[in-house]
Amino acid sequence: MNENAISLSSVSKSFGAFQALKSIDLSVAKGERIVICGPSGSGKSTLIRCINQLETHEAGEILVNGIKVGTEPKQLEAIRTQVGMVFQSFNLFPHLTILENCTLAPIWVKKLSKAAAEAKAMQLLERVRIPDQAHKRPSQLSGGQQQRVAIARALCMEPSVMLFDEPTSALDPEMVKEVLDVMLELASEGMTMLVVTHEMGFARQAADRVIFMDQGNILESGPPTEFFANPRHERTRLFLSQIL
Ligand code: ADP
Ligand code: MG
Repeated sequence: MNENAISLSSVSKSFGAFQALKSIDLSVAKGERIVICGPSGSGKSTLIRCINQLETHEAGEILVNGIKVGTEPKQLEAIRTQVGMVFQSFNLFPHLTILENCTLAPIWVKKLSKAAAEAKAMQLLERVRIPDQAHKRPSQLSGGQQQRVAIARALCMEPSVMLFDEPTSALDPEMVKEVLDVMLELASEGMTMLVVTHEMGFARQAADRVIFMDQGNILESGPPTEFFANPRHERTRLFLSQIL
């Protein structure tokens, strides 16, 4: 049986002549929490975006829970229901209320009734500690609150895997913790998580493995204690010295 939540083998992705991912191999076990770091332009977002097909890889194979990721409608639907994604810039629908943001996909993609979708959404808004904001619009919320809504919205689809792309990078410093706390809670509940972040405190606390990317390659990967205490590559050392 394939126990991997995600597996990439020899995955490559180019933009024109530029190769953003160079034959990436990566297996993520069910319940595993992985932090991805690395310099700007190293391919972190591209990697995450290929997993849920916001970008299409041109070579190699990606499996999510054993299902092949691809561009056919059935494949896309399977991936969209199983993989939750949280972006740096929240990406909430500005014209919808918080509650509507959370119920849209469950109603349209999962065919839940409005009442069932709303009940589930309220439960998750409570979990991210903002049930009182349910009837406001995103612009009325702080950045930290909006990002917690984005997490709740993704969880409303009951994904088996959550992808985060620099979820705290756009936040004012005082709001970073409230988002990281929600992510830590999720990690402690056994969610499979792939998190692009430079929050090394989060990596130390929550990650089973830290991955360092450079120029479209995974340069090294290891448990946080090892990764921070003893980075093997000069490039990793330099990067860590710049952000820590
Ligand atoms: P990171 O998230 O690590 O900063 P990205 O995955 O966003 O890096 O980008 C990797 C490289 O691919 C960068 O050089 C970036 O300019 C390039 N790239 C990313 N997306 C596109 C795109 N849609 N078109 C052209 N180049 C892109
Ligand atoms: Mg990025």
